[in-house]
Amino acid sequence: MEFDMHSSYWLEGKVALITGGASGIGEATVRLFIKQGAKVCIADIQDELGEQILKALGSGTHARFIHCDVSKEDDISKAVDFTVETFGTIDILVNNAGIIGNMFADITEADLQELKKVFEINVDGVFLGMKHAARVMIPRGKGSIISTASLASILGGLGPIGYTGSKHAVVGLTKSVASELGKHGIRVNCVSPAGVPSRLTLPLFPAWLGKAAVLKIYFAVTGYYANLKGVHLEANDVAEAMLFLASDEARYVSGLNLTVDGGQTVVNSPFR
Ligand code: NAD
Repeated sequence: MEFDMHSSYWLEGKVALITGGASGIGEATVRLFIKQGAKVCIADIQDELGEQILKALGSGTHARFIHCDVSKEDDISKAVDFTVETFGTIDILVNNAGIIGNMFADITEADLQELKKVFEINVDGVFLGMKHAARVMIPRGKGSIISTASLASILGGLGPIGYTGSKHAVVGLTKSVASELGKHGIRVNCVSPAGVPSRLTLPLFPAWLGKAAVLKIYFAVTGYYANLKGVHLEANDVAEAMLFLASDEARYVSGLNLTVDGGQTVVNSPFR
């Protein structure tokens, strides 16, 4: 018999709901999933960007947009229902919406309200997505839930305190919900990328560096962000990791925090 593992599209016939799909990693994931045969609903607060993506994808594409603030239960619930009404079901949820927040102060000066804002989107949003996708997936006995964590889910000092705390919480939710939903045939994983030039990372840099093109060069040339020499991380690399976890090829992978970091987290040596 000939070995022909990927002759067809990886997500043929599958339906995905992708939060934060109007920009950056989410947008790359929308484009890749559609290319791989999925029907995709983009849920985001940036309506104009979402509509632009639909237009760019073309009228024949199986993609829709819904305004959704992931920190609001009603919005998430409606986005899930809208996806089911439009495409019949949900096979894949990508909990990708996230913010870095404005918590650049040290712990003694840090503001609780800023912390809460970050957690509302990065943690409440993931929790609510899992909760409402599960109500559709459990009766079907299958599904894949993927959340975007970050290297800040593993290491301290890469991002502001609130962001780092929130991304550690995403891993905790992933493990906990994976252990619960396995008996229903639902896999729950997260992806932890290193730095990707995007709207999210721009504010981390001073204004003179905060131009997308300059930032791209910065990420490309610094050994810190490009441990795998000669390769620098782009949004699509993260989308490829999402694709694997979303697909049936990953049918025995659950509870994983998949790093997409060129090996950065395993290197901590002054000699390398
Ligand atoms: P981005 O800003 O380009 O995209 C984030 C998207 O989330 C935007 O479209 C935004 O409108 C949306 N969003 C924000 N708040 C929302 C809300 N309340 N409800 C719905 N949508 C909302 O940033 P990105 O870099 O593509 O980030 C995507 C995810 O990847 C985030 O969870 C982020 O923490 C994570 N991440 C990013 C990096 C990086 O270096 N860019 C690294 C690790 C993890």
